[in-house]
Amino acid sequence: MANTSNDEDCDYLFKTVLVGDSAVGKSNLLSRFAKDEFFLDSKPTIGVEFAYRNAKVGDKIVKAQIWDTAGQERFRAITSSYYRGALGAMLVYDITRRPTFENLTKWLHELREFGNQDMVIVLVGNKSDLKDLREVDVDDAQRLAQLENLCFMETSAKDNLNVEDAFLQMITKIYEIASLKNL
Ligand code: GDP
Repeated sequence: MANTSNDEDCDYLFKTVLVGDSAVGKSNLLSRFAKDEFFLDSKPTIGVEFAYRNAKVGDKIVKAQIWDTAGQERFRAITSSYYRGALGAMLVYDITRRPTFENLTKWLHELREFGNQDMVIVLVGNKSDLKDLREVDVDDAQRLAQLENLCFMETSAKDNLNVEDAFLQMITKIYEIASLKNL
């Protein structure tokens, strides 16, 4: 975690990334967390590639820089630089589309290949508002989270459920790990 002498409104700044299949809701999770907005169309014309948000952890202000794939996963165009230096990742699937859950293994592989060794990974099952269309049971996701040592939450970017909690859990854990290392 870099102590940001050039960034006066926070004590720490770190990079985090969003990963997961196309259309699972990554951009909407980010805009919900960073700007409290949700959009029904798939994307704004010009994708924002990252956003910042400050969070208070104990008596420190930490600033998370959160990177979004901005649709690059559609073209398999995510490069190792996307992951470089990231201390946290939100690994997102869509609870209404089973294949997005099955593909998590591939995303985990990428995170472990290109990401920081002790990266904090939060597994997020998004679109929890669409209960009737559910294709992934909570039990399946919990099992995977336990096996792979991930935090897990279901969210709805649309209804603003657990979004803040999921990001704050990731940010707090990163801060805790970084503080322990600095001791
Ligand atoms: P991305 O490609 O992973 O960044 O996904 P987007 O954020 O662009 O979302 C893809 C589609 O899913 C859009 O039509 C969104 O409006 C919709 N969407 C995203 N999050 C939710 C959610 O929590 N619930 C519902 N019902 N739809 C969502």
